[in-house]
Amino acid sequence: MREYVILGCGPAGRAAAREARLQDPAGRVTLVTNEMSPFYLRPALPDLVSGALERSSLVQRDEALQGDAGVDVRAGRRVYRVFPHESRVLLSDGTSLYFDRLLLATGASPRLGDYAVRLRNKVYTLSTLADAVRLSRLGLGPGTWVAVSGEGHTGLEAVRAFAARGCRVAYLTSHTRFWSPRSSVARSDVLQRLLSAKVEVLFDETVLDILDANGDGYRVITSTRRTLDVAAVCEARRLVPHLDYLGGSGVLVDEGVVVDRELRTNFDNIFAAGDAARVYDPDANELRANFGWESAGEQGAVAGHNLVHGGGRFVEAGAFRRLHGPGVLERWRG
Ligand SMILES: Cc1cc2nc3c(=O)[nH]c(=O)nc-3n(C[C@H](O)[C@H](O)[C@H](O)COP(=O)(O)OP(=O)(O)OC[C@H]3O[C@@H](n4cnc5c(N)ncnc54)[C@H](O)[C@@H]3O)c2cc1C
Repeated sequence: MREYVILGCGPAGRAAAREARLQDPAGRVTLVTNEMSPFYLRPALPDLVSGALERSSLVQRDEALQGDAGVDVRAGRRVYRVFPHESRVLLSDGTSLYFDRLLLATGASPRLGDYAVRLRNKVYTLSTLADAVRLSRLGLGPGTWVAVSGEGHTGLEAVRAFAARGCRVAYLTSHTRFWSPRSSVARSDVLQRLLSAKVEVLFDETVLDILDANGDGYRVITSTRRTLDVAAVCEARRLVPHLDYLGGSGVLVDEGVVVDRELRTNFDNIFAAGDAARVYDPDANELRANFGWESAGEQGAVAGHNLVHGGGRFVEAGAFRRLHGPGVLERWRG
């Protein structure tokens, strides 16, 4: 019986587990994630923070993976190390998992500044259910100031979540990276949307430091020496893959796990998919990163097939940015 170990229980990991079960019903599939309750819809987290959705409506039950489906879901366990030459993964509870085929699908989250480390995790990212639940419980309401440091889709979504609660938002963003010129949504429309929601857009101002204001929120010091007294700070900058556990493994990483179009790494029995991977696209002669719930799932299904058969299915050219949900501007109310 073959052992398939899948790291990460987002759309990529889940789709891979389903496909591996389908392709090899006799094999054993183990899914590992550090989240305690991983079956939820990540793109809906801003709606939990805004108050538009209840926590229960984010939960996704996956009959093909949960219960008696034959997939061993190890939730609440962090992956510490991967030892490709021993075909072994070391988990935070001190146990090891041995694999015949391994998938790296541990996703990505916004890069945190040094100040976040100094503040000991009091900066939120909105990329996990845990963060979104904490933010929704802060009682942020009309007139409360919140600082968002970010760019692109995740930055805009974080701003929308707070603005929908009636908060005043200071949005620290880069003039050049604020919105991709390659997006089908025009930058001018995004800016207009922010201004009509009375968001204070601070172009090219970055967070220099954040001080804990005696338990009454935080004081943000920006690169122009402006001070912002806010109730919460949310980081939504460039996404960085979660790959600390690959240190010393020999798996090739270049801002993501480097894979070919069959999603194979430089080790024949190790694959990667979703936001943690960088897929080589020979047509464009470049490495491409995923962003999008749907495309992460599509990549996961390809990886699940290839885990079983060693290859044979390829990532389509478009499978890098297929988003779940309505268009980014359609989500705004009022
Ligand atoms: C705020 C926000 C808004 C978004 N909005 C949208 C949207 O509107 N539409 C859309 O389509 N996409 C959206 N996305 C992007 C989408 O959620 C991602 O592209 C998708 O979730 C990536 O799937 P994945 O399976 O690669 O990784 P993830 O969904 O990130 O799952 C990876 C899992 O691996 C776990 N993990 C990480 N490191 C370890 C470790 N060391 N050990 C064990 N487990 C680990 C993580 O905790 C996580 O559970 C949004 C993302 C964010 C953060």
